[in-house]
Amino acid sequence: MKTWEDIGETQSTIAKILKNSVLKNRLSHAYVFEGGRGTGKKNVAVLLAKTFFCKEKLEAEPCQQCRDCKRIDSGNHPDIHLIQADGSSIKVDQIRELKKDLSLRGMESRKKFYIVEETEKMTPAAANSILKFLEEPDGEALAILLTTHVQRILPTVLSRSQVLSFAPLPPDKFIEKLVENSIPEKDARVISQITSDLEEGIQLCQDNWFAQARSKVIQLTDEVSLRPKNAFITLQEEWMPFFKEKSEIQLGIDLIMIWYRDVIRMQVDQTNQLVYIDQEDKLQDQALKLSQRKLGNNLQAVMDAKRRLDANTAPQLLMEQLLLRLQEG
Ligand SMILES: [Zn+2]
Repeated sequence: MKTWEDIGETQSTIAKILKNSVLKNRLSHAYVFEGGRGTGKKNVAVLLAKTFFCKEKLEAEPCQQCRDCKRIDSGNHPDIHLIQADGSSIKVDQIRELKKDLSLRGMESRKKFYIVEETEKMTPAAANSILKFLEEPDGEALAILLTTHVQRILPTVLSRSQVLSFAPLPPDKFIEKLVENSIPEKDARVISQITSDLEEGIQLCQDNWFAQARSKVIQLTDEVSLRPKNAFITLQEEWMPFFKEKSEIQLGIDLIMIWYRDVIRMQVDQTNQLVYIDQEDKLQDQALKLSQRKLGNNLQAVMDAKRRLDANTAPQLLMEQLLLRLQEG
């Protein structure tokens, strides 16, 4: 159960705009909510629906207790219509069905609220049909069109809607969300440095993949530091068979970069900002062993490896050369 105050913590501009429009009674007929996954678009749509229907609201804040609020929470308010893709698109027939449904059932109230998911999948006919809904004179209707791909939305839709852009979550909120999705905090912290897309973060953790990737990075950097000769064997036997796809190799290199940044944080006593939170001992060892100049060189070597991967250098070769540079005195 979200309130505008909750939403304000992560999407303050959007909360402000919508609250103001409610208070001034100037809501648009159609909004496009665009932004990455996990940015709370649907939560805001549901809260706006409550604000739209609740008769007991205090300023813009719905009461959360009346019949309208409760029915919205349980997902069965008769005047809220969720439109989702049927297969790969949202077809005009779906909108026609909905219209027929509405006329058969008779109006519970004159207010209607539509939430369209994956709006980029609407066919032009479906889009026109839904926009017509909003222009019907005998009622008050509002549509929220959700999308992660605003550039694919039809210009006719965009020009008749107010577009609100949802910013990615700040790292601490993002970590919180990952932890809520049963991802251990030690993994969540590292993931927050790699992506701000919640779904992508959750995906990375499937089958324990991310936790393994993370421990391979710890193992490799540890060997570079303590048992340089073993590092090449580890690369051969552990690293290469695990980081196979280009995107995985990229991620492995990014994780090494984050590691050395942590070693630098250790040196300058910013331990409260560590990313590998459970590795203080190893980070401390390396922070004592490596000079600032050497750490700078290490980061440079990792960045060069990234560039070479983009330029399609063979992964085996670029990783071996990276290890050699990390081991130089
Ligand atoms: Zn209410």
